[in-house]
Amino acid sequence: MSRILLKLSGEALSGGKNGTLFDQDVLHGMVDAVRQLVADKHEVMLVLGGGNLFRGAVLSTQLSVERATADYIGMLATIQNALVVRDYFHAHDVDTRVASAIAMPQVCEAYVPKRIARHLEKGRVVIFAAGLGAPYFTTDTTAVQRALELGAKEVVFVKNGVNGLYTGDPKSDQHATFIKEISASSVAQQALRALDLSAVVLARDNGLSLRIIGMSDLSRTLDHTVGSIIKAE
Ligand code: UDP
Repeated sequence: MSRILLKLSGEALSGGKNGTLFDQDVLHGMVDAVRQLVADKHEVMLVLGGGNLFRGAVLSTQLSVERATADYIGMLATIQNALVVRDYFHAHDVDTRVASAIAMPQVCEAYVPKRIARHLEKGRVVIFAAGLGAPYFTTDTTAVQRALELGAKEVVFVKNGVNGLYTGDPKSDQHATFIKEISASSVAQQALRALDLSAVVLARDNGLSLRIIGMSDLSRTLDHTVGSIIKAE
């Protein structure tokens, strides 16, 4: 039995399609992959981003919304995503709970680590919503923090449109090359931006390796031959 945490960005939920908030194929791929992991006796946690709905930094620069307010709006977006995915999973017979870092008792339960552990032991999937509940953080950092607190063996970042870590953004930089394995310190030194660097440093300082895979490899989440590994060194 191992505990796994998957992080999907809001963009991944939309399948990277402009004007689409939730891509049915993506949701279907998620439920299939997660159902298989649960059937194989893995305990599965999810962190979802909110970028398909709102991103704090964008709201604050474009609309003069105060940065902290904009970040709270971003966190609310992650709750909305979590509710969509929870109900989609329920509709496909995957027992799922949403645990939010912002108290919202009518909508979902609060993040209480000991209670999460019990859900996981019972085979329920847990989605962490509202990030860390604090402005100036991201859901990448949330993924690493929750994985550390709940003892996940694997943290897998599932990306839209790329199959792992590159030296640059392969969508815009034709010279970007694939990196199979790299240390977290090198990621920070080279300022590789595939993940939030605060998340990379938090993982490194606490001995947690990270993986990045593409959406198309979601069914091979635990297969280390796919994607990239960021080692905790
Ligand atoms: N956010 C935040 N604190 C957190 C997590 C998220 O303030 O702990 C806000 C932040 O504004 C961020 C937004 O929520 O832009 C959505 O999260 P993120 O950008 O990580 O989503 P993704 O890019 O993965 O879709």
